[in-house]
Amino acid sequence: MLVILSDREVYIDKNRKYLKGNLHTHTTNSDGDYSVKEVLNIYKNNGYDFLGITDHEVFCEEEYNEGITLIHGVEESSLYVRDDDRRGTYAHFNCFIPKMKVKPEVKFYENASDLQKNIDELNKMYSLVQFNHPLFSRLTDNEHLSLNGYDVIEIFNNKDFLQETGIYSADTLIRTLLNNHKKFLISANDDFHGPYYGTKIDRCFGGFNMVCADNNEESILDAIKSGNFYPSTGPLILDLRREEKVFKIETTPVKRIIFYSNLRRCKNIFDLNDEEITQGEYELKGSEYYVWVKIIDNSGKCAWSQPIYLD
Ligand SMILES: [Zn+2]
Ligand SMILES: [Zn+2]
Repeated sequence: MLVILSDREVYIDKNRKYLKGNLHTHTTNSDGDYSVKEVLNIYKNNGYDFLGITDHEVFCEEEYNEGITLIHGVEESSLYVRDDDRRGTYAHFNCFIPKMKVKPEVKFYENASDLQKNIDELNKMYSLVQFNHPLFSRLTDNEHLSLNGYDVIEIFNNKDFLQETGIYSADTLIRTLLNNHKKFLISANDDFHGPYYGTKIDRCFGGFNMVCADNNEESILDAIKSGNFYPSTGPLILDLRREEKVFKIETTPVKRIIFYSNLRRCKNIFDLNDEEITQGEYELKGSEYYVWVKIIDNSGKCAWSQPIYLD
């Protein structure tokens, strides 16, 4: 919850408890290698508080009450069908909180306005829509700029960003969207299917979200819908607040803390002797319409605040 104390705002609160979870997982109900129960156990045994089950075109109907909160969802597909080199690629959306009895099915698109209609359709069916792995959809930046209506966009997806596009995360796209006044929330997820690319190692625990909520499905989804969470691949943001014109952040030990805004220069905080740091500050210049913080640890893992909109 955003706590507004006149000129003070708390975005991440060290006095509140945060839950750890991944909002994107496949099971044997679509193309995953493990059953719903098996993936829930895998995550529970690694300290996760919640797990989103999001099979392709199958809304999760199972229940589970054994030490990890099951978030019921589905991954809805839009298939690109125009006859050019993008043909056969998908735009994928994780959807939660159905407004009606849903019957997910693959939708089609030939251009961004078709895709917008599909997003509008998803919004009629669900209260929370996440644009998954946006680079994987091979949309141009201009097409991304034309789309509206999703609540969350994945800045990090442990499945395909690096393996299938050669790009580690969607930071650059997110900054392009922010610089063009787009408003959305960001998440980091595993898109866990099991082991793949010829390995035997489960490809999980890469991207997760820290959510300020009670440990039940309704509270977690409410907190996500209202932006009361942040994504990470490792380090943690312990506290983030604004006191008048100054943003203050506290983190687990990291190598860099970077404050981005629409201004061309970012503030990049690090120690000259290469020691780890755990706090940073940013003073508003006055013409920022957003501020956004990223932290990077020694192994290159990151966490991001939600974009903070000032207009
Ligand atoms: Zn997908
Ligand atoms: Zn997926």
